[in-house]
Order: sequence, then structure tokens, then C-alpha cells
Amino acid sequence: MNNTKLSVVIPVYNEGESIPELCDRLQKILTSLNLNYEVIFVDDGSTDKTFSLLKERHNQHNKIKILHFNKNFGKAYAYSAGFASAKGEIIITMDGDLQDAPEEIPNFLEKMKEGYDLVSGWKYTGKGKRRFSSKFFNFVTSFFTKLPLHDFNCPFKAYRQEVAKNLHIYGELHRFIPALAYWKGYKITEIKVENYPRKYGKTKYGFGRFIKGFLDLITVIFLTQYIKRPLHFFGLFGLIFGVGGFCIDLAITVEGLAKGKIGHQALLLLGLFLIVIGIQFVFTGLLGEMIYSLRETKEEEHIVKQIVE
Ligand code: UDP
Ligand code: MG
Repeated sequence: MNNTKLSVVIPVYNEGESIPELCDRLQKILTSLNLNYEVIFVDDGSTDKTFSLLKERHNQHNKIKILHFNKNFGKAYAYSAGFASAKGEIIITMDGDLQDAPEEIPNFLEKMKEGYDLVSGWKYTGKGKRRFSSKFFNFVTSFFTKLPLHDFNCPFKAYRQEVAKNLHIYGELHRFIPALAYWKGYKITEIKVENYPRKYGKTKYGFGRFIKGFLDLITVIFLTQYIKRPLHFFGLFGLIFGVGGFCIDLAITVEGLAKGKIGHQALLLLGLFLIVIGIQFVFTGLLGEMIYSLRETKEEEHIVKQIVE
């Protein structure tokens, strides 16, 4: 029988130096909670001693599980695999580089008791002030997703099992987990957590994360708001361009008829150009609708909370 109360999912990629301290601290705090737990390390294709150290821990302690990827697939896939195998009623995610303190896990569990589906960490202290780029990123994400959180990408989070298992994360979408969960109707809140500096090794992400982050934001807006109605998105641009172009050319035609000759070559071309682009946008939207209606897997479209018969 499964009576696991808590699963802690930790993606690790070349974090060998942190593993011993992390495991010690996790064991200490989790044992003190007096509940049935498991810690799932997802080794995302480490090339250092991470896996062998984890194996050692696993041999000493049956609560430690390891999912070992054969190459570096990325954090989103590590989460997906971790969530799929997690048995706990509540699932906690945190980083494996000691930037999140295991001692804060009980705060998440306390907050979850208030009935939330997802409690997300908010790194508001630590390393001094959050960088401007990160604040901006969070502000824009919050604006577009309509979810008022300060820190979407904080790895320290607690989920009800159903929420974690219902997320479909790939690529770099792990940065937007709260937004994806919110769109499925789950109840989300945040709690403040400390942000400790990295003790060992170095960050696995460079500056490129911000550019990719914004491209991913477009994906998220699409996935959450327009996937079921692509024509509303593309059609809007199509109509703006198409109608704009038509009006320009109409005005030129009327003027031309009045004067007996059609001039304004450049404007005429602009009008035509806009009409063609507009038509293309509308058809792209229609194609989107057709593709969506042909999808075979529709299970994630809605979540039935309760059936009363
Ligand atoms: N990580 C991973 N796969 C990757 C990159 C990172 O599993 O491809 C893990 C990494 O080992 C760490 C966590 O994800 O436990 C966060 O990575 P990192 O500390 O480099 O990110 P930052 O804290 O700088 O945002
Ligand atoms: Mg880190």
C-alpha cells in the first residue's frame, strides 16, 4: 500500500560537492517530521561523482531514490521524470546546489495545510537584491498570465500530487510552472524563502536564459490562453492587417477614380502587402484550429474536481 506522504524531487547535474551536505541536512529535517517520505534525485546526466555519491547514500538509506538520465536532458525533463515516479501526497521540488535550505521544507508543508494546490517559493532575500532583469521577467510574466506572484522561477515549491502529475513540462517551461498550474484552475500562493549563494560548482545557466525566457513566455501565453482558439490570436492580427490594407487601397482607388488616374504607387503596394499578410494570418489561425481539433490526447483539457450523481 502506498502511504508515502512526502516526495522531495531534486534535479542534479554535476553537483557532486553538494550531495553529502544536502543528503545529511535532508535526512535530519525529514526524519524530524515523523512522516513517510522519499527523496528522488534526478541525475540529469552528470559527468562528475554525483551518481556514485548518490548510490552510496541510496545503499545506506532506502528512502533515497535515483533516476539516472543517460545524458543531460535539462531541468524540465528531470522534473517530469521525478513527478511521474513520485508517490507522495505532497511533492516538494528544490535545487541540489544548497541554494535552497532543506530546513525550510516544513514551512511549505504548513502552508499547504491551508488548502493550496501549489505553494511557490519567493526568493526575496539572500544574495542582496534580486537582479533587475529577474524582477522585470517576473513582472511581465505576472502581467500576461494574470497570476500575481513575485518569483515564478523559484525552484523551491510544494505541489499536491495531482498538480505535479497534471503538468506537462518540457523544454524550459519549468520556469512557468505556477502559470501553467494556474491556468488549469489550481489554487496557488507563495511564501518567502531564503536565497543562499551557491557553495560549490557554478550555475548551469548563462545570460542566454533571459532571451530564451522571453521566447518561452510567448509559448506559455499561447499554451495557456490561445491553444484552444488559435484563430482568435492569429485572426486578430489578420483582420488588423487585412482591413488596414483594404482601407488604404480603397482610399487610393476612390481618389484615383475621382482624378482619373491612380497614383501613390508605394501606398498601393503597402495596402496590397497588408492584405496578403492579413489573409496569411487568418489562414494560419484556421490551420491552428484544424490541428487542435485533430489532436488525439484531450485528457488535459479540463479537470473534474468532483462528480455529484
Ligand atoms: N540542473 C539540472 N539540469 C540542467 C541544469 C541544472 O538538473 O541541465 C539542476 C542543477 O544541478 C541544480 C538546479 O538544476 O540542482 C538549478 O541549476 P543552477 O543552480 O545551475 O541554476 P541557478 O540556481 O543558477 O538558477
Ligand atoms: Mg542554483
